[in-house]
Amino acid sequence: MKLRSLLSCLFLFLCAIAVNAAPLERNAFTFTKYDLAVRIEPGQQRLGVRGKVTLRNDSSTPQKVAVLQISSSLGWRSVASRGAALQFVSQSYTSDIDHTGALSESIVTLPEAIAPKGIIDLEIAYEGVILLDATRLTRIGTPELAARSTDWDQISPKFTAVRGVGYVTWYPIATEDASLSDGESLSETLGQWKSRESASSMHLQITVEGDEDSEPPELLLNASSCPTAHEVGRDFVADCMYQAAGSAVPTFVIANYESVDRPDIAVHFLRGHEAAATNYADASEKVAPFIKEWFGRPRAKAQTADLIDPGAGPFESGSFLLTPLANSDAKLGLVAAHQLTHAALSSARPWIDEGLAHFAQALYLESQSGRQVALDYMSLHRSALSTAESEKHNPDIAARADDAANQSLVNTTREELYRSKAMCVWWMLRDMVGDPVLKKAIASYRPEQDKDPSYMPRLIQAQTQRDLEWFFDDWVYRDRGLPDFKVASAFTRKTLPEGYMLTVTVDNLGAAGAEVPLMVKFAGGEVTRRLVVRGKSNGVIRVEVPKPPEEIVVNDGSVPESNATNNTFRLDNSDPPNSPNKP
Ligand SMILES: [Zn+2]
Repeated sequence: MKLRSLLSCLFLFLCAIAVNAAPLERNAFTFTKYDLAVRIEPGQQRLGVRGKVTLRNDSSTPQKVAVLQISSSLGWRSVASRGAALQFVSQSYTSDIDHTGALSESIVTLPEAIAPKGIIDLEIAYEGVILLDATRLTRIGTPELAARSTDWDQISPKFTAVRGVGYVTWYPIATEDASLSDGESLSETLGQWKSRESASSMHLQITVEGDEDSEPPELLLNASSCPTAHEVGRDFVADCMYQAAGSAVPTFVIANYESVDRPDIAVHFLRGHEAAATNYADASEKVAPFIKEWFGRPRAKAQTADLIDPGAGPFESGSFLLTPLANSDAKLGLVAAHQLTHAALSSARPWIDEGLAHFAQALYLESQSGRQVALDYMSLHRSALSTAESEKHNPDIAARADDAANQSLVNTTREELYRSKAMCVWWMLRDMVGDPVLKKAIASYRPEQDKDPSYMPRLIQAQTQRDLEWFFDDWVYRDRGLPDFKVASAFTRKTLPEGYMLTVTVDNLGAAGAEVPLMVKFAGGEVTRRLVVRGKSNGVIRVEVPKPPEEIVVNDGSVPESNATNNTFRLDNSDPPNSPNKP
């Protein structure tokens, strides 16, 4: 009897070790549904949450333990299932996914193991304060002021603005740790979480505690809908719903706003910023017809809200934009073009969602100031892109990142790619197929039907006779890096009665193909032709010019390239005609 109990003791002890030693599978569960009652007390800078989360086991093994993470400034009060309290261990977990640089992690022992694809509802309660905290940035050496202008989230009596995952973990998540000092670790962790949560819904009943002495403030959320909002006694209560909580990044703002309301946009501003708000609303109304023509009618009114710190970095979630209005400059039309594009078209795929919003900015600039200004604007993006591409193709760095297919435009979580590279891809497509074709393809896009990465490429292909498969292969489905064009040779022949036939061979030293413009300059003029040069290949084009050609330039800047220093070719006209020119 004694021995047996000793043995079972030992057995339990060993089991306990086994449980503790088993690595926590933080990515096992997807949080498919949130139903949270949130109480905000601005005076105390406090947040208290009671509610329910639904977890689905998306791993291939049964799970007996669930991990729930919230910001380290919040603390767990209880975790229960069907009314019965569950045992959990709370620990601090270092991760730069939260502004405090750490999470309060609750490791919950579930009542029974949840089979793969099985679900469990957990009743949860947690609370704490949300203060301005830029620890994750200052500890890697970001100057205090810059850090506070980046991580500006806080609850405070005067002004409250709190963004969700990636900023303040004010609703529970489960992620592996992310570090800002480790390359792309944070954006990868965030990207994975967002795509896992792309179909998750969040219902919020949000109560803001009122203050007898002051005016009731305005509450703004980036929710899909907030059908009810009303005052209950001194409190303000709203009921809001998010359909795609992963990409939306649930965010709330509480401030004494006034607003400028226009058909396409509402601009909420803080006292003293009325002129800036009106300027932005005016700029938006001016851009709106152009955006409608390209991307269709807005699905909802765009919302812009002021931030109290004039140096604060802007934040966007769909057509919801937080930006300090006091600091607005002459680029209002450019900002509005981006925001209104999001209001007109949304996609769960970042290369479509953000790519088109940036493409819209380049289109808008072109409509205002011509093609060259748009190309100059895109070149600002291209430098970020070249760096990203060369890092990706550097074996040391690439080995750390996922394989190349995961960095393709359809899968990437890197901003330089789904913003800058995607913008260039849309611009190249537009140069290849023309405005009417691309507009028709965009108009036929239905986000709810976008179940496959090839959906959008097929919509574009359906509008044109041109074979675009090679282009999508090199730029969208796979990551073949960037092209590198070079004029390999040029041959001039005098034609009768007067004129010259120039035969140009263009090499592409890179692995991605493109249709690229080729400019031929001669005394008093220039002609531009376009030619397709596939990756690791060459293309030949004949160009007729009225005067002896003097210079050939491949690429006007509309095609991103890894090396643009070898794009100019000077022809030596002292050579007798009919002789080939060598570079
Ligand atoms: Zn955007």
